[in-house]
Amino acid sequence: MKKIKITIIMAAISLASTALAGNPFFEMYKTPHQTIPFNLIKTSDYMPAFEEAMKQQNKEVDDIIDNPQKPTFDNTIVALERSGEMLNKVSSPLYNLLSSETNDDLQAIAEKISPIMSEHSNSIRLNEKLFARVKAVYDEKDKLKLTPEQKMLLKETYEGFTKNGANLSEADKAVYRELTKELGLLTLQYGQNVLKETNKYSLLITDKSLLSGLPEDFMNMLAENATKADKKGWLLNLKATTYVPFMKYADNRDLRRELYMAYTTRCMLGGEFDNRENIKKIANTRLKIANILGYKSYADYELVDRMAENKKNVYDLLDKLLAAYKPAAEKEFAEVQAYADAHGAYFKLQPWDWSYYSEKLKDEKYSINDEMLRPYFELEHVRKGVFGLATRLYGIHFTKNPNIPVYNPEVDAYDVTDENGKYLAVLYTDFHPRDGKRAGAWMNDFKPQWKEGKTDSRPQITIVMNFTRPTDTKPALLTFDEVTTFLHEFGHSLHGMLTKCTYESLSGTNVYRDFVELPSQIMENWGSEKEFLDGFAVNYLTGEKIPQELIKKIKASENFNAAYFCLRQLSFGYLDMAWHTIETPFEGDVIDYEKAAMLSTQILPPVPNTAMSPTFSHIFAGGYAAGYYSYKWAEVLDADAFSVFAKNGIFDKKTADSFRKNILEKGGTEHPMVLYKRFRGQEPTIDALLIRNGIK
Ligand SMILES: [Zn+2]
Repeated sequence: MKKIKITIIMAAISLASTALAGNPFFEMYKTPHQTIPFNLIKTSDYMPAFEEAMKQQNKEVDDIIDNPQKPTFDNTIVALERSGEMLNKVSSPLYNLLSSETNDDLQAIAEKISPIMSEHSNSIRLNEKLFARVKAVYDEKDKLKLTPEQKMLLKETYEGFTKNGANLSEADKAVYRELTKELGLLTLQYGQNVLKETNKYSLLITDKSLLSGLPEDFMNMLAENATKADKKGWLLNLKATTYVPFMKYADNRDLRRELYMAYTTRCMLGGEFDNRENIKKIANTRLKIANILGYKSYADYELVDRMAENKKNVYDLLDKLLAAYKPAAEKEFAEVQAYADAHGAYFKLQPWDWSYYSEKLKDEKYSINDEMLRPYFELEHVRKGVFGLATRLYGIHFTKNPNIPVYNPEVDAYDVTDENGKYLAVLYTDFHPRDGKRAGAWMNDFKPQWKEGKTDSRPQITIVMNFTRPTDTKPALLTFDEVTTFLHEFGHSLHGMLTKCTYESLSGTNVYRDFVELPSQIMENWGSEKEFLDGFAVNYLTGEKIPQELIKKIKASENFNAAYFCLRQLSFGYLDMAWHTIETPFEGDVIDYEKAAMLSTQILPPVPNTAMSPTFSHIFAGGYAAGYYSYKWAEVLDADAFSVFAKNGIFDKKTADSFRKNILEKGGTEHPMVLYKRFRGQEPTIDALLIRNGIK
């Protein structure tokens, strides 16, 4: 019997090695820290690797089920946790590249593999024999001697099954499988529509006088856009690096309106990339999934494993902040309107005027603007400053390693080492916008962290941005917002790099979603601290330190329109909740429904036939469904947490140590409130945030 089994396995291995010969996914990476050999992976390597990797995981799962011993934490929960390593190895480059360096071939693979992957993970999550073993261990949990991390793994594993239908009847399981597969395709389609529709738009300006008000560097960038497209003049598009500054600086109101309308009507005017039907289908499919699992709405289902715990707590937070900030936001609007009136605007401010007049008023009040600060924020200086902050707080060091393969020549890779020189992580940085990279900024891992026995397998982390490019004549000079974004994503990466957990599904940023923004948002607080800026913010031409005056103005201007921005975030939070608290299928008009959901937060006049939902990728293509509120939730946390640094000193080693040990190293190994209270000594309140924003 034994012999036959071995023969079969041997046959399988040799078959596999023929089919997969030369496929880099099936070789040990010979790169530094076994980083991904991007240069060796061909698009055609993915599909066979996926197929084989899924086979491998199925075999690993079968081994757990076939184990004749009674289910234990080790032979079931840990064994399952350790399964699928090969699948992670194959999917991590694909899913990272789909965001940062995509092309039609990769997208075709993603479309093909997405339903297969859903099916595969469902077949594990809905495997009755496997669930029976997991449940057997779970039912014994009070008798087992488990560490807090092991308890968390057991709870998460068990709920991973029950939240995914393990308790369903056979018929319902089949329906559930169908629904999740459908949802996977719909969200993918939605995201691609946003990308394609955004890239589709361009507006060539050949009359320079129409572009008055725009800073010189920005004009150069628009001219380069045109040159790249083989055109003469200045080319506008809807990417953030063009859209945001254009709305801020362009004197020409008609053009501002035109760009605004193009931006806010993306994916909703008919045509191949219209997302309105997708929105309905996504919301309704999510509702069906929630219902079949016994929840009234998708939000009820999602909030089970959040720090917020339920809808009531989410709405409590949104409502509390709305009440505190709305009067202040109305005052801000009146102030900008008065400013515009005094400067010849004979109209009620419209959304396409807001950024323009706000910027001018801000400039007048604080005589500070992005362009004045840019010379002090050369990307390379900022990078050193931000990395240096981690050195100062946590003693970690960054050394560029040119031997680590990268997926684009613009990407850099660093060896990250601890105080004692011990290897901690690899960090990739990818700073500038390109075709094929989606908008925004994010952190992700190429490889998570885990421990097995004495082996601590360290993580490989990436941070991806869309920062201002260098031009032919100038290095990349960042806006203050871009510096803040850098700090933010870098904070996520610290969470990923400093993690010290045993199980990868609990390590790094694998925490409850409304807790995940604490490590990122807290870093933003350093951005306006003189002691921090003094270390790196020098004029790229003269080497002169950023003047004290300018720092004071940054600080003073930080709260400019803070209430307006808070309401904007609240409006997205309410919109998200509106789509995910529906308890009956949505059949109405997407745009009308959105308007109603956001009404209480609106300060600017609503513009008919524009909408956010058709391009709200966070909730319809990303992981923020019923989770957008978490940005504000985390802001409450980060203001409250930073108040400890502010009190003890922003480089205070003891405070940093405590933050590292209690939060950054712990991942999701314990409930976030437990971790937080261990650092803070008490539960958070909204007071520190109100004070920081000048509301209280
Ligand atoms: Zn974030």
